[in-house]
Amino acid sequence: MPERHEQPHDASQAQRNAAENVANRRNFLRISAISAATTILSSSSCTMEHPDHNDDVAPVKAHAHKKHESHGHPDMDKELRDQMKHPFHTNPEQWLETHGKDLDACFDCSGEPVTEVTIVCIDERMTMALKTASGKRVLRMAGSGVLFSKALTEDEQIEELADSLAQYVAALAQASGIDVSSIKLKISSHLTCGAAAKKFGAESADPDESAREYQQKAVAALKARGINAEFTNDAPMNDNTAHNALATIVDFSRGRLQRTPITVENVDGMAQPMTLNTFVVSSPSDAKALEDALLSIGIASGSHSYGEQLKQYTFLVLIDPADPKRSWQFVSDLTAGAKPFEAKGIKVKIVTREAPKDEK
Ligand SMILES: [Zn+2]
Repeated sequence: MPERHEQPHDASQAQRNAAENVANRRNFLRISAISAATTILSSSSCTMEHPDHNDDVAPVKAHAHKKHESHGHPDMDKELRDQMKHPFHTNPEQWLETHGKDLDACFDCSGEPVTEVTIVCIDERMTMALKTASGKRVLRMAGSGVLFSKALTEDEQIEELADSLAQYVAALAQASGIDVSSIKLKISSHLTCGAAAKKFGAESADPDESAREYQQKAVAALKARGINAEFTNDAPMNDNTAHNALATIVDFSRGRLQRTPITVENVDGMAQPMTLNTFVVSSPSDAKALEDALLSIGIASGSHSYGEQLKQYTFLVLIDPADPKRSWQFVSDLTAGAKPFEAKGIKVKIVTREAPKDEK
C-alpha cells in the first residue's frame, strides 16, 4: 500500500483556522477511541455520575474534522491520522486504567425496573445520549436486526428476530418483577445504513426504505407476542459520510451500556473533550454479536472506510459480571474470527473490562 504522507500545509492559515474551529466544536462529541481495558477484571463499582451534561441527547455533531475531498471521497488518510489521536487507540489498556470509571458511568446500574429498550444499528455514526438513564436498555444490532436471521424466507427471519427480542424483553420483565407490557421496545432505522444495503441492495432501489418495512414487520410480530413494540423511524446521526471508527465495543451486559464516554484528552498539545468513537454491538444472541463484530471490522477495512490503509483495529469486550463464562467464550470466538483480518495485515487487539455490576 502507498506510504502515508503528511497533509501538505498549503491551505491558507484562515482556512485552517476555520476548519479547526469547526473541528474543535464538533470534537466535543467524537473522536474515536474506545474504552477498553484489557485484563482489568477487578469488578468495578457502578456510579451514575457523569460530568455536567444536562441534555439527554448529544446536541453537537459527532464528527470533528472537515473532510478533505479528493475525487469525491473523503480523505481517509487524514481521517485515520485524526482518529489515531485518541489515546485509546495507541494504548487501550492504559486508557482504560485512566478512564475506566468514565466508561462505567455509561452503564445503567441503577437496579430500577426496565421500562424502555431501544434498538439501533451498530453504526458508529448513531448519535448517543450524554448521560445514562435509569431503567433503560440499548441493543445495537446491524441494521437494527435486518441481518439477524439467515432463514430462507423473510417471514421466517422476522419470526426468529421477534422470538429472540421477545425472550430478551420477557427476561428483563421477570428480573424487574413487572409485566412485559410495562417495557416499551423501540426499533429505529437510519439513513445510509450499510446493513440495509447489504441485505436489500441487490433487489431494492431504496435499501433504507426496505429496512424500515422490515423493521415495521418485526414490530408487528413483536406486538403479536404481547410486546409493547414501536417503530421509531430514522435515529439521529452525526454528519460523517464515511465510517471512521477504529474500534468496536461489544457489550455483554445485556444492554446496560447506553453510550460511550466523553473524556478530556491531551491532543496536539491541548486538553480537549473527546468521545470514544466506536461501533457498538449489543445483541440478545452471542452468535449474532460475533457476526456483527466481524461485520464492523469488515466495514472499517472495506471500501466505505479505510480499506487497505487500516493497519490496526481494537475490540473492547465488556464482560458480563453475572455470567463471565459466556463473555469469555465470545472473546475466544472473536479471537478466532479475527484471524482472516490479521492475515490481511491488520493488527487486531482484543481488550476486556468487566462491566460494573447492577446495583439490584
Ligand atoms: Zn446501519
